[in-house]
Formats: sequence, C-alpha cells, structure tokens
Amino acid sequence: MAKLIDGKAFAEGLRKRIAGAVSTLKAEHGLTPGLAVVLVGEDPASKVYVANKAKQTVEVGMNSWEHKLPADTSESDLLALVDKLNKDSSVHGILVQMPLPKQIDSAKVLNAIDPAKDVDGFHVVNVGRLSTGQEALVACTPTGCVMLAKDVLGDLSGINAVVIGRSNIVGKPVAQLLLAENCTVTIAHSKSKDLPSIVRQADLVIAAVGRPEMVKGDWIKPGATVIDVGINRIERDGKAKLVGDCDFASCEKVAGAITPVPGGVGPMTIACLLYNTVKAASAIKGIKAPAM
Ligand code: NDP
Repeated sequence: MAKLIDGKAFAEGLRKRIAGAVSTLKAEHGLTPGLAVVLVGEDPASKVYVANKAKQTVEVGMNSWEHKLPADTSESDLLALVDKLNKDSSVHGILVQMPLPKQIDSAKVLNAIDPAKDVDGFHVVNVGRLSTGQEALVACTPTGCVMLAKDVLGDLSGINAVVIGRSNIVGKPVAQLLLAENCTVTIAHSKSKDLPSIVRQADLVIAAVGRPEMVKGDWIKPGATVIDVGINRIERDGKAKLVGDCDFASCEKVAGAITPVPGGVGPMTIACLLYNTVKAASAIKGIKAPAM
C-alpha cells in the first residue's frame, strides 16, 4: 500500500515556519507583510476560500484586507481598486479571487496587478520569469505540489514526471517547476493519445484534470509518486463526496506514495499564498526572503 502524503500536516508545518519568518521580519526590519484579497460577487465557494485566506493570513501574524465588491461591479471600478492597492505601500500581496463576473476581462485584471505584488503568480511577467528560469512569484497550487513531491522523493533530478492537464493555473506552471527541478517532463491533455501508457512511464504523476477518479491504478508504474490536484464533488450512495482525479482505491495499491483528496494538495495552496506574500514583502523591501 502506498504511503499517504499528508498535505494537511505539511501545510501546518509550513504555516508555522511562515509565522516564524513574519515575526523575524517584524522584529528585525519593522516589516509586517500584508495581503489584500478582492472578491467580486457572491459565489459561495469563493466566499469560503476568501474567508479561509483571511483567517490564515492573520494567524501567521500578517495584515489582511478583504475588499468585497458587488457582482455588478464594472471592470473600470475593479481596475481602479487594483491600482489603489498597487500604490498602497502597506499592501505587499494582491489577490483577485477567480472566477470574475462575465462583464470583467479576467486577464486584463490579472495583468493590472503590480507583478511585484502578484502573489497568485498569474501575471504574464511572473509566468515569463518562471519559464525563463528567473526569480518569480509562482502560482500557489503548483508550488505546493512540488513541495510535496520533494518531501517524498528528495532530489527530483532526472526522474520522469507526467503532468496531466495544461491549464495556466496548474498544469503549465507545475510542468515549468518540475523542469526547473531537472525532471524529464511530459505534459498530457485531452488530445493526448493513449494516456494510460504515457502515465505508466512516470515516476511522478501530477493529475490536474477536473475529472473524478479518471486515473486508474493500472495506469500507475509500481512505486510511483502520485500527486492528485483534482477536487471533484460527486454523489455516491446518496451522499455528497469530494474525490480527486485519481481513483484512490486502485492507485494506492500500486503507487509508492499518494496524496488523498481532501487533505493532500488542497491545504498547500493557501500556505503557499502566505509564503508568496512573505517573499513579495521581503523583495519589495530589498530583504532576502527566508527559504522554506
Ligand atoms: P482546467 O479545466 O482549466 O484544465 C483541465 C486540464 O485537463 C486541461 O488541460 C484539459 O485538456 C485536461 N483534460 C481534460 N480532460 C482530459 C482527459 N480526458 N484526458 C487528459 N486530459 C484532460 O482545470 P484546472 O487546471 O483549473 O484544475 C484541474 C483540477 O484541479 C480541478 O479538479 C480543480 O478543481 C483542481 N484544482 C485544485 C486546486 C487546489 O487544490 N487548491 C487549485 C486549482 C485547481 P485541454 O487543455 O486539452 O482541454
């Protein structure tokens, strides 16, 4: 049976290290990192995410601001708020919660955020820096995936990694991070042919598809590490249930290590967001950010 990768415990440890780094920044540099989160509309899942982000930001000793705007907010009003936050020196990280209402061009808003404060790592400047091997603020979920993989496998150099999914928020950045770790990276997607045989080559599988339990145990090379990013709500035996993109029951019989859903990658995302805020605040003040 595969070793269970406990993302919840790892994220808790990471938040403790972040809290330590925040108190050092306060004591030695008089710097309190601050994160501003903008929520437009009433999407219930987004409201829960934003509330969790704010709670955890305060828990590690940072400043937190929540800007809640009505669903009919115009693009220009949202851009004006982003501009104000860009200019506010007490704000080091800006996150605009996705998805945005239809009348707003998300790409325009994401690219209006000062790249130095882009703690989601979605600005084209940060995406470009990541892909050219320069210091960057990197998307949070991909960072969390690679932290968990390194915790299990140590040095990733030379291993075969297969990323299933090529979205801008997970698949592509996680592939870039793995390339930077010297993995041999294959990116699979909906047009890939014979996905099971591609996945069977992998020492490390990262599944970011959004299809419940798609990856089966007989796709997995014995002993491989499986990082399941998927969060899918299904109904089973009349009950609501969260499952990943991997069929946990069959994969755990073959894999060497596997993340559960929930409790795997999920908790890493906010912890990495807090870390990015520490990195952004440190960089803005010209201080070397602590390694985590
Ligand atoms: P997207 O829908 O943006 O991307 C899905 C990707 O999967 C696409 O590249 C698509 O290919 C590919 N795909 C779809 N069907 C197949 C298939 N049958 N075979 C192979 N590839 C396929 O999703 P996201 O990247 O945003 O999210 C993926 C999952 O991760 C979701 O379940 C989401 O909820 C979860 N997630 C979890 C987070 C967390 O833990 N905090 C954060 C973000 C996401 P193509 O490009 O060809 O269409």
